[in-house]
Amino acid sequence: MNCMWCENNQIKEAKKDCYWILPDGLSSVQILQVPALSCKNCGLYLTDEMNHEIDFALYTRNLPTRKKEILYEELINAPYKATF
Ligand SMILES: [Zn+2]
Repeated sequence: MNCMWCENNQIKEAKKDCYWILPDGLSSVQILQVPALSCKNCGLYLTDEMNHEIDFALYTRNLPTRKKEILYEELINAPYKATF
């Protein structure tokens, strides 16, 4: 696996805590222990796929209300919102 930005092949898998704006655009949540990549040139960052996955999860999953932080694992295992 290579770095998405600088093509360095000495990257490591790591975990990152991230602040995320919720789809309502008003509140934010801290997502803990998100799988990330660590590059010695570029630092610690999330891949595009992971960004999309989290956006999608926040949009489609029912999050515990009024929780200011959530584990990545909790987020992707949360129940889907009812669509009607
Ligand atoms: Zn890099």
